[in-house]
Amino acid sequence: MTLARRDYRTVVVGGGVVGLYTAHHLVRAGAGPVLVVDRGRLSAGGSGRNGGGIRQQWETRATIRLAREAVAAYRGFASEFGHNVWFRQGGYLFLADGAAEMARLERVRNVARAEGLDVRLLGVPEVERLVDGIAPGACLGGSYLATDGTLYPYPVLWGLLEALRRAGTEVAYGVEVTGVARDDRGRLAGVLTSEGRVATGALVNAAGGWSGELSRRCGLDVPNVATRHEILATEPMKPFVDPMVVRASDGLYFSQSMRGELVGGLTVPHPPGVDGGVPSSARFLTSMARALLTLLPRLAGLRVLRAWAGFYDDTPDGLPLLGEDPRLAGFVHANGLGGHGFMLAPSASRRAAQAVLGEPVDPEAREFSPGRFLAPGGASRVEGLQLG
Ligand SMILES: Cc1cc2nc3c(=O)[nH]c(=O)nc-3n(C[C@H](O)[C@H](O)[C@H](O)COP(=O)(O)OP(=O)(O)OC[C@H]3O[C@@H](n4cnc5c(N)ncnc54)[C@H](O)[C@@H]3O)c2cc1C
Repeated sequence: MTLARRDYRTVVVGGGVVGLYTAHHLVRAGAGPVLVVDRGRLSAGGSGRNGGGIRQQWETRATIRLAREAVAAYRGFASEFGHNVWFRQGGYLFLADGAAEMARLERVRNVARAEGLDVRLLGVPEVERLVDGIAPGACLGGSYLATDGTLYPYPVLWGLLEALRRAGTEVAYGVEVTGVARDDRGRLAGVLTSEGRVATGALVNAAGGWSGELSRRCGLDVPNVATRHEILATEPMKPFVDPMVVRASDGLYFSQSMRGELVGGLTVPHPPGVDGGVPSSARFLTSMARALLTLLPRLAGLRVLRAWAGFYDDTPDGLPLLGEDPRLAGFVHANGLGGHGFMLAPSASRRAAQAVLGEPVDPEAREFSPGRFLAPGGASRVEGLQLG
């Protein structure tokens, strides 16, 4: 593959949802030429491996604001990009099976309501109406927001890619970034790729689970850690549950697709890092089956059609890195989105694009600032609702 040019205003590394959305914001702002490079293929990363969950219930106002903006973007996606992403706002139901979880959900409700979201705490009878067949005594109640939901990730990627190509933006799959070049003043001057050196003043690191690896290749130590997470889809069942259901104690989550399949996951620990690849494990299948049956005994005998895995891109405080790295002018982070990068992509990438353009950023920018980990105490947990 040969790139069309040898100089670009911005090079976006990663052709998943975050990279494509960032390029889209830049192109729409007239800030071309933009090059998107990805060493894999469309949807090879987390963007083609996720559960399609879209929610606004979070512990921090900063994340809620990202999520609200993203929900508005996905609601308008079909008219903007001409692809139906089947965004179904069937709600998100967090279940509490202990007093501590209930208190936690109450705190989430309070923060969300202060941000104008109609999150409601539910008792057992209301939960039973939402989850037909839930085992007696399986929960004490839950929190619910009707405007959360699920979508199909693939049409989002197709819509973004087509829009970029229509606008004449180069999106090159099969091209790897191996490092950066700096000018005399230490600013970013170019990107080193498997197709040779490309001159540019800005690189956006949207490499998902590999973002830590990419930053380190470029000489920047970052706290991002890739973690492997598994997910499965079952054979179809008659529709019985509208919301995405998440158990707060262990993070078990599932939703029912329009075809009737249950799609869901549960975190089983794996060694951190990308070196082990993304195989599925028997341990996940058995843990997931057991966890589901404690909640929905009538699923006994339901067959699993497929299971797969992908990487989350985790940070110590549960918040993303969005903005320019203070150690390298021109190097912009759009990463650290944990297991929630699809739902936050439209708004997180808009903030990354603002940083490239040198525009004033939104009020919560400090909380997402890549420099926060350089300061003492910058690594404490802030956003803890990293579930489902
Ligand atoms: C099992 C599972 C379930 C999930 N469920 C949800 C969910 O319900 N809702 C939600 O919002 N999120 C979910 N996520 C998380 C979500 O999928 C990710 O946060 C999101 O897709 C990240 O998008 P991205 O564009 O940043 O990264 P990716 O889609 O991973 O794209 C990064 C790309 O960078 C490329 N790349 C990496 N290094 C280089 C390099 N050096 N040079 C060139 N290219 C490079 C890779 O090839 C890859 O294609 C889930 C993830 C998993 C694994």
